[in-house]
Amino acid sequence: MNVPFVDLQAEFREVDGEVSAAIRNVVQKGNFVLGPEVEGFEEAFARYVGSSCCIGVSSGTDALRMALEGIGISAGDEVIVPVNTFVATALAVTAIGAVPRFVDSVDESFLLDIAKAHEAVNSRTRAVIPVHLYGRMVAAEDLASFDLPVIEDAAQAHGQDCQGRRAGSVGRAGCFSFYPSKNLGAYGDGGAITTSDEELRDRLRLLRNYGQSRKYHHEIKGGNHRLDAIQAAVLRVKLKSLDRWNQCRRAAAAYYTNHLKDGISRPTGESVYHLYVIRVGNRDRLQGKLAEAGIDTGIHYPVPLHLAPCFKELGGRQGDFPVAERAAREILSLPMSPFITSEQQEYVVEKVNKWGEPV
Ligand SMILES: *Cc1c(COP(=O)(O)O)cnc(C)c1O
Repeated sequence: MNVPFVDLQAEFREVDGEVSAAIRNVVQKGNFVLGPEVEGFEEAFARYVGSSCCIGVSSGTDALRMALEGIGISAGDEVIVPVNTFVATALAVTAIGAVPRFVDSVDESFLLDIAKAHEAVNSRTRAVIPVHLYGRMVAAEDLASFDLPVIEDAAQAHGQDCQGRRAGSVGRAGCFSFYPSKNLGAYGDGGAITTSDEELRDRLRLLRNYGQSRKYHHEIKGGNHRLDAIQAAVLRVKLKSLDRWNQCRRAAAAYYTNHLKDGISRPTGESVYHLYVIRVGNRDRLQGKLAEAGIDTGIHYPVPLHLAPCFKELGGRQGDFPVAERAAREILSLPMSPFITSEQQEYVVEKVNKWGEPV
């Protein structure tokens, strides 16, 4: 048996009719950039998240970079970033000349250690980027505990909520990616920023579109960071299924959690399970055995950011962030998508229980 890590073909089979018609409609009308499809999606996604505004942009990385720029972060400012996240969270900071200030994660949740984040604040700190990693949301009260602007990296948590607030609606801005394998994915790159700050919304609209207020009238130095209309049309259709797909992910996660043997450490807490991450003592060996058995797995992420060569100027050393460093050696992401079948899951569980060793 073959178990893919995600199954985008199965998803397409489900939405084919409506998505294909929506794409065709954009092509027929010839409105490819911004326009009614993008506005329609922005409105629907803002409502879904529970923010008053949404700005469609070209990717999750651009969303983060523009949100930072939009709230006035500039060269030399420090921004707190968890060391256990996808590289884009920190690249958004360095892209505008600001400096990531790395903070360790919490052992059990893998999320930003809030107490350590508070300790890391100094006179140059201008913002915090908590990441709702693997589909689990940083608690709303923790997000509210900073006296600094909070930019939520919600690229893995479309639809997750905490104390009645959805990911992306709590901080000054929420940043989303619609990379194809995310819980809400486009058919190419895409992203969005949600905010309830109308001044920030207006600035972001300028920033994504050459800084122009109307054609050839350029107020600030913007760029070209727009969500395109075909992607918006796809996302508008798929957004209607997001809650149901997240429920399927939760059901698949519950199956893993209930059937993996004792000693295999599994996720805790509420999550929309962008990823289902276990911890084992023999991670590399287990991953190799599973690959031989036709089971695709992933490691999210193998190198904590302070040890990534691209950030070597920050002087990070082995031992600086022991919780994240240990996690990086033990974590393994099992196949997860709304379309994973019970036969596939049974097979994965059988093999993990056979070869996985307790941490
Ligand atoms: C995917 C992802 C991003 C980047 O999004 P892109 O659309 O690929 O640029 C940023 N942060 C996290 C946590 C992500 O998972």
